[in-house]
Order: sequence, then structure tokens, then C-alpha cells
Amino acid sequence: MLNVPPQAFPAPRSQQRVSAGGRAKVPLKPGRSLMDWIRLTKSGKDLTGLKGRLIEVTEDELAKHNKKEDCWICIRGFVYNVTPYMEYHPGGEDELMKAAGTDGTDLFDQVHRWVNYESMLKECLVGRMAVKPIAAPKGMVPEKKGLGASVKDLTPSYDWFQTDNSITVVIYTKQKDMNAELVIVDCQDKRLRGEIIVGDHSYLVEVDLDHAVQEDVAVNIAEKVGKIEIILKKKDNVHWKMLGQPLESHNTFIKRTDRGLFYRKCKLVSKTEVTHDTKLFRLMLPKSTHLHVPTGQHVYLKKNIAGTEVVKPYTPVLPFLPLDFKEPFSHDGAHIYLMIKIYSCGLFTQALDHLQIGDYISVSNPEGNFKKSQVQTLEDLFLLAAGTGFTPMVKLLNFALTEVSCLRTVKLIFFNKTEDDILWRNQLEQLALKDERFEVQFILSQPTKDWVGKQGKISSSLLSEFVKISRKDSKVLICICGPTPFTEQGVQYLKDLGYSQEEIHAFTA
Ligand code: FAD
Ligand code: NAD
Repeated sequence: MLNVPPQAFPAPRSQQRVSAGGRAKVPLKPGRSLMDWIRLTKSGKDLTGLKGRLIEVTEDELAKHNKKEDCWICIRGFVYNVTPYMEYHPGGEDELMKAAGTDGTDLFDQVHRWVNYESMLKECLVGRMAVKPIAAPKGMVPEKKGLGASVKDLTPSYDWFQTDNSITVVIYTKQKDMNAELVIVDCQDKRLRGEIIVGDHSYLVEVDLDHAVQEDVAVNIAEKVGKIEIILKKKDNVHWKMLGQPLESHNTFIKRTDRGLFYRKCKLVSKTEVTHDTKLFRLMLPKSTHLHVPTGQHVYLKKNIAGTEVVKPYTPVLPFLPLDFKEPFSHDGAHIYLMIKIYSCGLFTQALDHLQIGDYISVSNPEGNFKKSQVQTLEDLFLLAAGTGFTPMVKLLNFALTEVSCLRTVKLIFFNKTEDDILWRNQLEQLALKDERFEVQFILSQPTKDWVGKQGKISSSLLSEFVKISRKDSKVLICICGPTPFTEQGVQYLKDLGYSQEEIHAFTA
């Protein structure tokens, strides 16, 4: 059992009390943290009121359970009695009540589709809907009404061929600007999964292969013609009659947000100190995985904690800040680097900190709404980061200094509590010396007496002092990331200072 003091948890500013992604989170009563919920689900208490029986639920029956003290919700065809969960819901009882007695799938997907409700609510499962639920289960081809011909025309297709020792799956995306970040391939235990991102849609090839293949998988991308080859090496020199058995979502082209998150197990290969409480975790992707996390996107880590699957987002960084921007930093493609602050009473980060070198952890496909095109034609880039809100800025900084030819200035305004909390301070200072386009300003909210630099928290006056465009008509972007109140206040101050919505990007979940 984890040693988490129930009274002190979650702490006043914890992720479980403070809003993420702009959603209001309510203060949870003491003893109502995620860890407390996990404890309750393990207590053997009858949480559904059905003594372990699973029933078929009609829509009429579901609708009857629409009160706080008797609340059932359907998610993807499964009905849960969420009454006992009410007080533990980080978004508050009212949010949960919005779906009371109805199909809450869409609402759930809008707010936190990455949360593993199957695991969190397994003891609350009442049963299945007797009739088809209103929302389509994930992975199904969506109705093409309205999109009709356009989606059909854009739908990629695939083919495959073989030689004596290889199998090549060819995907024709009909896109002219394919790149490695849009192709995610996994092949494990004879299961091949190739996901291609086309705008806000995802095309999937997913089959149970006819025969076994070797571990290493090669992916070739003909960027200009949008052709992707996945090359597998046969384990045995036999002729394949077919590629394999199609799995449920095989050959579907659906909205990305309707595709379930896919996880693969990655090995922890190193864990190095960045500051007194922050570590750089280097995770090795399986040989059979092709995955490049795009700039500004995050992944989800999933771990079983006390019998419940817990999922948290993290933004991959580079192993260090490159100082030479003549060449784009070459990503080895085999590793993911995560800079993670370990909180002394953090549920997930404590579990991460206890991982040993060689242990495995599940890592999802990337997500996020930042697009590189927002930066491509910029002249001034401002990065407002607080604490680990620095992580999305790392790749962004590197991308901007390397690939944005019209860029004149990049300014990082980095808010931390104390000097000891500043992440990669030396590297940032070196970069500022090396590249005259880059400038860094540290601002501390709890400095010691010796600190001669700027002090304070984000404010209108600090922003008007430091966010200054280099020319009157400069094309500017201001990116902001940190604790939710920091991000929300920052966005408001920037708007008050006259910056438009398009000139501001807030990183949230
Ligand atoms: P919780 O159990 O949720 O929190 C419990 C304890 O943690 C609290 O009692 C408190 O002591 C402490 N705590 C949590 N948050 C704060 C806070 N803001 N200020 C002070 N104390 C706090 N984190 C990273 O370290 N690196 C990343 O790259 C990263 N990327 C993220 C990307 C996104 C899109 C989002 C939304 C969040 C990201 N986070 C990142 C935060 C991360 O997802 C977790 O919320 C964080 O690791 C805390 O998890 P936990 O379960 O350990 O803490
Ligand atoms: P922290 O507690 O060390 O605080 C760092 C600085 O943030 C403080 O010095 C202060 O200037 C500012 N700050 C903190 N609380 C504030 C408040 N209530 N109002 C105004 N300013 C405030 O920060 P941390 O522990 O490193 O937390 C980093 C946060 O960034 C976490 O909440 C994490 O979830 C978030 N994060 C988000 C993403 C993303 O992409 N959305 C990525 C990484 C981290």
C-alpha cells in the first residue's frame, strides 16, 4: 500500500484541486483523493448496490437514476453507478450530474477521454445498455453524413506484398506533406498497428499477422507522394496466404479524437537529476515501434497503482538544449525524454520515482493541439513558462531557432519559486550567450535574500516589461505553460495588453 497521508492529500495546490485544461476543478474534501478512491474500491464494499450482479440496462431504467444520491451514467455502452464516486470527482459533483441518467460518452470525451474510467470505475459497473447507446463506440467508422464524399476522397488505402524474407505494407495517404511525426507503427506479438495522421483524422491498419515477424520494423516515408512502407522481416521463410486477420478498427478513417489511445511498454534506461526534485527520464521505445512526438505535444504515461490504472500527461523534451542551430537536432527515434518533477505526496510521480532502470512503463501516442505552422512564419516568439511548464518550450525553442528563417527574437520568461528550481539554467544561459536571437529572464516568486534578479508572480506589469515586440508590425506568438492559475492569468493579462487570441497559445491538457 502506498504511504499517502489521507488528511494532507490532495494538497491545496495539487493537480487534483487545481483546474487543468481550463476546466474548473473543485476543492475535494480531505480524504477524497484519487488514492482514497482506490482504497475504497479495494475495500470490498458493494459500490453498485447490486451485490456484484451485472444487469442489462434499458434507456428508461438509466433515465430513472438521475439524482446525486442515485446516479447512473453510460459511457461507451457500459453503465456505471457513479453515486459513490461523486465526492471524489476532481471536476466536482455538478459536472458529473450533467450526464446523470444519460449517455455521457460525448461529454466524457470532450473533457478527459484519456482518463482510464474502465479501471477507475470498475467496481461501479452496473452492466451494459440493453439497447445501442447514443454515441458510437470508439474505433467505429463515424457516420459520414455531411462529410460524405470529402472524407471518402481523402481516405487512405493500403496494399501489401512479400518477398522470401519480408512483408511490405504500403499505405497510400493521398497527402503531399507526409512526415515521420504523422506515422505511428507498432508491431508486437504478431499484431501490426499502423496509424497515419491526416489532419484531424486518423487512418488505421490493424491486423493480427498471418505469421510471426522479427522484432525490428522499418518505416519508409515518401513525403512528397504520401506513400508509406512498413517493412517487416519474416521470422520463417514461408509464403503468406494473407497479411493477417483484420482487427476491429482495421482500415478505418475516423476523427483522431474518436480513436482510443494506444499504449506500448517502454523501458526506463536512465534517470538523471535535473534539480533537487526534477529528473530526466529516458525511456526506450520497443524496436518494433516507430513514434516521433511532435513539438508541443504530450504523451500519457499509464501505470497500475494499487490495482488501478492511473494515467498522467507529460511533454517530451530533448536530452539537452542543443547550442548549434545549423542542423536540426537529429532525433534518434529510439528514445523519449521526460523531465518530471517528483512531488513528495504525488500519487503518480512517487510511483515513477520508484521505477528501477530496466522497468517498463506504458507510453501513449502523442496528443496536443499545438501546430508547428503557428511558428513557421514568426518574427518574435515569447515563451512564458512556470516550473515544469518549461517542458513544451524545449522542443519549441529548438524548432524556432533551427527552422524558422524569419525569426528575430525568442524570449523565455521563466517563472520559478527559487533559484534551485530553475531547470537547465546553465544551458539556457549558455544558449543566450551563443545565439543573439535568444534571451532568457528568470523571475522568482520565493527568492532568497541574495537574489538580485526579478521577483514576483505573473502580472500585467511584468508582462508589459518583458513581452515587447521587436518591430511595430512583427508577427508574434506568445506561448504559455505552467500551473493552471498561472496560465489562465497570463492569457488574461496578454489579452488586456492587446494581444489577439491567434497571438497566444496556452498549453493545457
Ligand atoms: P498529484 O497526486 O496529482 O498531486 C499530488 C501532490 O503533488 C500534491 O499534494 C502537491 O504536493 C503536488 N503538486 C501537484 N501539482 C502541483 C503544483 N502545480 N504545484 C505544487 N504542487 C503540486 N509534469 C512534469 O513534471 N513534466 C511534464 O513534462 C509535464 N507535462 C504535462 C503536460 C500536460 C498536458 C499536463 C496537463 C500536465 C503535465 N505535467 C507535467 C503534470 C503531470 O501530468 C502531473 O500532474 C504531475 O506529475 C503530478 O502528478 P502526481 O500524480 O504525482 O501528483
Ligand atoms: P511551481 O509550483 O514550482 O511554480 C512555479 C511558478 O509558477 C511559481 O514560482 C509562480 O511564479 C507560478 N505559479 C505557481 N502557482 C501560481 C498561481 N497560483 N498563480 C500564479 N502563478 C503561479 O510549479 P510546478 O510544480 O513546476 O508546476 C508546473 C505546472 O505546469 C503543473 O501544474 C503542471 O501540470 C503544468 N504543466 C503543464 C504542461 C502542459 O502542457 N499543459 C506541461 C508541463 C507542466
